[in-house]
Amino acid sequence: MDPNQTFLDMFEAMKSEEFETARERAIALKDWFAKGGFYPHQFTPEAMHAYIASVMRRTAGHGPEPLFTLICCDCDAGDGIHTEEQAITEGWSEIEPAFALPQANYCGRCPDCRDR
Ligand SMILES: [Zn+2]
Repeated sequence: MDPNQTFLDMFEAMKSEEFETARERAIALKDWFAKGGFYPHQFTPEAMHAYIASVMRRTAGHGPEPLFTLICCDCDAGDGIHTEEQAITEGWSEIEPAFALPQANYCGRCPDCRDR
C-alpha cells in the first residue's frame, strides 16, 4: 500500500463528502500503521493519528466498521482479543473507541490492571 496516496484519497473523499470512501481509507491507514508501515513524510505519527481519529468520528455511521483491536490503557495487554464479547468474557472493562491510538482501535482496562 502507498500511504501517501491513501491519505490523499481520504482527504479528497472528506472534501467531497464521500464518507464511506473516506472511512475505508482511514481504516486502511490505521491498519497499515498498526502493522508497522511507514508514515507519509509530511506528517508526524501524532498528526496522522489525530487526523484519522477525526475522520473516524466524522464518518461514524457510514461505511465499514474497523476491526476490533484492543489495548489496555495501563499496560500492553490486548493481543489475541478479536471481539468485544471476548474482551468482556475475559474480564475487560471500560472499553471505548480509541482511534487516535496507533496500536489499536479500542482501549480498555485488562483484568490484571483492574484487579491491581
Ligand atoms: Zn493492563
